[in-house]
Amino acid sequence: MEKILNKEDFNREELAYLLSLHGEGRKLLLNKAAEVKKMTVGNKVYFRGLIEFSNICSKDCLYCGIRSSNKTIARYNASDEEILESCRFAWENRFGSVVLQSGELSSPAFIKRVDHLLKEIKKLSNGELGITLCCGEQSKETYAMWRESGAHRYLLRIESSNPDLYYKIHPDNDLHSFEKRVEALNFLKETGYQVGTGVMIGLPFQTYDDLAGDLLFFKSIDMDMCGMGPYIEHEDTPLYKYRDQLKTKQERFELSLNMIACLRLLMPDINIAATTALQAIDPLGREKALTVGANVIMPNLTPCVYRQEYRLYEGKPCLDEDAELCRNCLEARLELAGSEIGYGEWGDSKHYFQRTKKA
Ligand code: SF4
Repeated sequence: MEKILNKEDFNREELAYLLSLHGEGRKLLLNKAAEVKKMTVGNKVYFRGLIEFSNICSKDCLYCGIRSSNKTIARYNASDEEILESCRFAWENRFGSVVLQSGELSSPAFIKRVDHLLKEIKKLSNGELGITLCCGEQSKETYAMWRESGAHRYLLRIESSNPDLYYKIHPDNDLHSFEKRVEALNFLKETGYQVGTGVMIGLPFQTYDDLAGDLLFFKSIDMDMCGMGPYIEHEDTPLYKYRDQLKTKQERFELSLNMIACLRLLMPDINIAATTALQAIDPLGREKALTVGANVIMPNLTPCVYRQEYRLYEGKPCLDEDAELCRNCLEARLELAGSEIGYGEWGDSKHYFQRTKKA
């Protein structure tokens, strides 16, 4: 066990073994990841104010509460003023960065709107707010235009790197093509972004070997950032019918921490987010993730009136806390978890600078 943990590289079998650990062995894994985190990215945690600006989506992913076929939710599209107000809050409170997230659309009007928002956010913050986008698959030209207008990080989750599993959780059609998703990740690298991806952990049909494959996929595409968390079922989705096959929520949570720890060992200098889905299972879930390898947290700055309607999964936390409350609560929690907050800093991925230096 210790021999494996002291390695710098891991094969698929070793990763699957580490992911399956419980008890004392698991403690060793988590402690090792905490040590590696301290030595590489330190104990600073960076804020990304999350603005879920629209839940209108053209896609129909089988696990997602805001999929286009779900007619039980009210669709919303925050106004430019509301979005910019949230960005102003982030800037005035020295969050350093915001994440603009929405359902996936690729209409010219949507592309133009995001472009306009990027320029306005840069203007209102004197260029000081860093911007991450999470707006799905787009053309290379669109990515390049948004990069030029001020976005410098992009999150596009692969959700599963095993094509068989990918098509069990997505419709098998052109709009949900695995190849296109991988191609979009390549476009993002080619257009100069810090690129993030991630997966859901504890999906029906998913094995330790699949998750080990996901970790190796992250390494193979040389990604800079990762956002991954436990799969949480949503009753208005087709995947809900497999809920009896799932691990318990607590098991999915623990497995998610094992994934974060393994990833920190495998890619020591990337940014790893402590995602909200962790908190949906364990109230201190994000803080626990920070102690085993994560270094980014995304306080929700979505205007409260819309939060109920941006539910990709059940039990999403902080649906009615306003941004000020959210910030105070987080500050206290992070201090308890022994992290220092990188106020006013972008907290870019160290890995990105290493990767682009080599290129
Ligand atoms: S996961 Fe993303 S792309 Fe898929 S349906 Fe949900 S919001 Fe749309």
